[in-house]
Amino acid sequence: MPANKLELHDITRTYDGAVVVDGLSLTLAPGEVTCLLGPSGCGKSTTLRIAAGVDRQTSGSVLIDGHVVSDETGHMPPELRKIGLMFQDFALFPHLDVERNVGFGLHGSRADKKARVVDLLHKVELEGYAHKYPHQLSGGEQQRVALARALAPKPQVMLMDEPFSGLDDRLRDDVRDATLELLKAENTAVLMVTHEPEEAMRMADRIALMRNGKIVQAGAPYNMYNAPVDRQAAGFFSDINVIEGTVTNALTETPFGQFLTPGMVDGTQVEIIIRPQHLKLDFDRNGRGPNPTVSDGVPARGKVKRARYLGHQSLVEFTMDYDRSILMVLVPGVFLPNVDTAMWLSMRRDRCFLFKK
Ligand code: ADP
Ligand code: MG
Repeated sequence: MPANKLELHDITRTYDGAVVVDGLSLTLAPGEVTCLLGPSGCGKSTTLRIAAGVDRQTSGSVLIDGHVVSDETGHMPPELRKIGLMFQDFALFPHLDVERNVGFGLHGSRADKKARVVDLLHKVELEGYAHKYPHQLSGGEQQRVALARALAPKPQVMLMDEPFSGLDDRLRDDVRDATLELLKAENTAVLMVTHEPEEAMRMADRIALMRNGKIVQAGAPYNMYNAPVDRQAAGFFSDINVIEGTVTNALTETPFGQFLTPGMVDGTQVEIIIRPQHLKLDFDRNGRGPNPTVSDGVPARGKVKRARYLGHQSLVEFTMDYDRSILMVLVPGVFLPNVDTAMWLSMRRDRCFLFKK
């Protein structure tokens, strides 16, 4: 029986005294894609290697289907764990054709093996490639063969480390979507490592955001984006504007009026975060801006410092009259106002995140 549940309990890994994974716990559910997301060097691959069994934690335990497969007392090797692995540098066997690469780990009758291989090649859209050799395939085709090979034994747990990073942008989207469809169809529990927030947002049912060896926040992509736990978590998913302030009488003054900061003692340094796409622009009418609304708060005036066209949107930077601070605004489509144009910025307060500094 293939494994279908994987748990990491309080995993710590040190290399030469340096803590690389730090008390990390994670459970994979069947049919769910979890993305381990974080900057380079935060310990993602190490975590995955420990889950696979190719590396061993310094402390903590790994469980498969409720049974301990690795702890201080013992360690089951990867080949006995019945989980699928797909790493960045997936290696196909160069001397075997596609059919034999995909069927490599399969047992059973020749007819059964053949049927499974045919089914998988169909799913990864490589019918007709069965008798080609790896060197006759493009990068994307090789990657899909590797995926088919990893899925051939029907693993219920699949570990993937940046599996799409070797593909160019357009191809990557196609291969990602095909992969996701396949994994869902097989109800596989997936742990996928990536350092790209867009990829995690696109693929994941659940994102586990990692920093310095720890999971700092986990949740559905929507929640990760709209309810970040701190400034860095907010900033990992998009550019952000940071407005700094100091609490006085439970209020913080900003270019956009006062923010309530209840329960914070006077003198507390706070940061108000707003994503550039959540600021609204209005033209200046002889020094007057739009009428403030309750949800948009007080508008603030700024002058265009720079405007750039990014394709499907434009990025406009403003120098704020209030304190000469710089704020970025993303506007859909083409919007390229001249430098020094005065405009009014408003922000939806329900789109702001307020953190203690
Ligand atoms: P990520 O996948 O998030 O980029 P890694 O898990 O590969 O990060 O690495 C995390 C840290 O652990 C890095 O600082 C890396 O240099 C260190 N590290 C990883 N593997 C080893 C090793 N075998 N020996 C020593 N240090 C290692
Ligand atoms: Mg890595």
